Amino acid sequence: MKKIIIAIDGVSSTGKSTMAKDLAKELGYTYIDTGAMYRAVTLYSLQHGFFADNRIDEEKLQAAMDDIEISFVFNPETGRPDTYLNGIKVEKEIRGMEVANWVSPIAALGFVRRAMVTKQQEMGKAKGIVMDGRDIGTVVFPEAELKIYVTASAEVRAQRRLDELNAKGEQTSFEEVLENVKKRDYIDMNRAESPLRKAEDALELDNSYMTIPEQKAWLLEQYNRVVSKNEL
Ligand code: C5P
Repeated sequence: MKKIIIAIDGVSSTGKSTMAKDLAKELGYTYIDTGAMYRAVTLYSLQHGFFADNRIDEEKLQAAMDDIEISFVFNPETGRPDTYLNGIKVEKEIRGMEVANWVSPIAALGFVRRAMVTKQQEMGKAKGIVMDGRDIGTVVFPEAELKIYVTASAEVRAQRRLDELNAKGEQTSFEEVLENVKKRDYIDMNRAESPLRKAEDALELDNSYMTIPEQKAWLLEQYNRVVSKNEL
């Protein structure tokens, strides 16, 4: 069967990654979490002291870009890929609040985006991928055969994120998480470089009140429709 590119974009904490991972598993496709790549660059910047007085030292980060090696290694225990930064597994570190607070300003930097987009295009060129992010259907793979744009209300998303953080033992408040979700939306949608927007040919999915099985069924329906159209 012909392999396609599936681009899943949308605002933060919509559960896009869960949907994308499950779909990839179901189809035998490779899953690529592009948010994890921007998070890994942010973690590297935190580890190397590139933040001072609440600002990013862009020159230092730009000079270090060639030293940042990001890779994904499939974890058979979880059935999902783990993110590695320069050979070290950083899956847990990149998901905390400190990285979440800095990732959107880092992802707004043109030189960071160009480096990540080049890597992403390289990873996806053989097709058979599900890639999730903010600019996959608009910039990374504008020719993707199936594009989905996922949304949900900020409150629903903040609650989902809070549950996730609490489950990992990170203590934070609903208000703090809600503020972070809204702030990231604002930065992602208003940045000069590849702002988050729905591609014209993307299908919109508001999953505020959908269960995971309902979302999965909807996605598979879209996949089957696109594949049967492509094979006519
Ligand atoms: O998807 P996730 O929430 O892990 O992404 C973290 C951040 O990385 C987003 O808030 C966004 O600022 C940035 N990002 C991006 N482009 C992508 C993926 C993520 O700008 N393709």
